[in-house]
Amino acid sequence: MRECFELRDTDAGGRIGELTVPRADVTVETPALLPVINPNLDTISPRRLAEEFGAEILITNSYIIYGTEDVREAALEDGLHELLDFPGAIMTDSGSFQLAEYGEIDVTSEEILEFQHAIGSDIGTPVDIPTPPDASREQAERELETTQERLEAAETVDTGEMLVNAPVQGSIYPDLREEAGRHAQGTDLDVFPVGAVVPLMNDYRYADMIDAVAGAKRGLGADAPVHLFGAGHPMMFALAVAMGCDLFDSAAYALYARDDRYLTVRGTRHLDDLDYLPCSCPVCAAHSPAELRELPDKQREKELAAHNLHVTFEEIRRIKQAIRAGNLLELVEQRARAHPTMLDGYRTLLDHADQLERSDPVSKGAFFYTSSESARRPEVLRHHRRLERLDVPDSLFLTEGSPGSGDEYDDSWRVEPPFGPFPRALSKSYPLTAEVPARTHRAALEAAADGVARLVETNPDTEFALGHRGWPTEVVARVPETVELIDLTESYD
Ligand SMILES: [Zn+2]
Repeated sequence: MRECFELRDTDAGGRIGELTVPRADVTVETPALLPVINPNLDTISPRRLAEEFGAEILITNSYIIYGTEDVREAALEDGLHELLDFPGAIMTDSGSFQLAEYGEIDVTSEEILEFQHAIGSDIGTPVDIPTPPDASREQAERELETTQERLEAAETVDTGEMLVNAPVQGSIYPDLREEAGRHAQGTDLDVFPVGAVVPLMNDYRYADMIDAVAGAKRGLGADAPVHLFGAGHPMMFALAVAMGCDLFDSAAYALYARDDRYLTVRGTRHLDDLDYLPCSCPVCAAHSPAELRELPDKQREKELAAHNLHVTFEEIRRIKQAIRAGNLLELVEQRARAHPTMLDGYRTLLDHADQLERSDPVSKGAFFYTSSESARRPEVLRHHRRLERLDVPDSLFLTEGSPGSGDEYDDSWRVEPPFGPFPRALSKSYPLTAEVPARTHRAALEAAADGVARLVETNPDTEFALGHRGWPTEVVARVPETVELIDLTESYD
């Protein structure tokens, strides 16, 4: 196990964890949001972030501090905590972003790490190479090699108690992300940012983002704290947490406020387009949209930034509660309805149901079937696998109806969409207690038929019959031909 990170609760790929930051003498509960502080701009003070918003950790850019002479001198003299006046943990970025934007920076990875240590950063970052999406595979491989050399060099820098980030790159090549994750996990570095995903999020490419994170996670293993670097829109937090991200940083709260953009968990709105404020934070409780529009520029920016932060922290709390209650994927389903590309992201998440299933608890509160995607949740996958291990008699009646009479079959099992068949004794166990709409969805029937097929194929010597409530022909076609079919809706006529 990595000493700095402990898992408390899990749901799908999401987890509540504790990140111990020894240099700050602080334990940060994850999923956590790190507000981004530009040391040269002061939208909302770090002290206020801690006291009003409950921020336990923030992130600032050591390269900007390094390059601004008076700030650099003050940071070296007094330390970062005093400079920013922040009581929690401080993570520092290294200038990789500037490197990606401007093509060069005037400091080496070792120098900037030593500088971060010297100014009292709690979690430092080497200069990695953020390979953009759609770079050629050759470029992604070449740059990944450089990043890996820098991580190895970072291990040799004396950073004392400062934790050190090990960024995971690899562009949109999942196998490179996986290799990068495995290499990073093999170093003695501490926290693992999945890098260069900002361009994906700017273009609403949530499906590619999920594939990149899933690849990195396969290489990293379960005990690694994962930071989705540059991801600050609350709309996609639940999705990213469900794939296993633990840390987010938000510059969005301040950048968006500057352009009169108002964050919600269902997307961004422009203040000019709002007739009502769909929020009860102190800012929205005290102002109407018209009143906000009439404020002087600087003040309006501050108020909007405060709202943006409130809604962002609120979503993090909602996600933690969902993990605790075991209904994170139901929250993701709701968020996925906010934008078609978010739905693509959720559908891609379910492509990795196999990976999620490993950390998903065996038992939770209740499974709510709320969309066709619910039929692909890890719980359904796990049930289908479990079917391969169940003992079956020589003849078995699988039915959506009553057990049937007489002794035509040795036993009768229930069939419930989306899970498929199971022995009646399991009826009260998770997830078979699921709440499913009475107007059953086609995807749920198909998943149930696939469950039947799984059981039949695993037990070729058993004689099966299936009693179904009028399944469409295409659904029934998924059941092996050897199964005797009884349409219960016809027999009741
Ligand atoms: Zn608000």
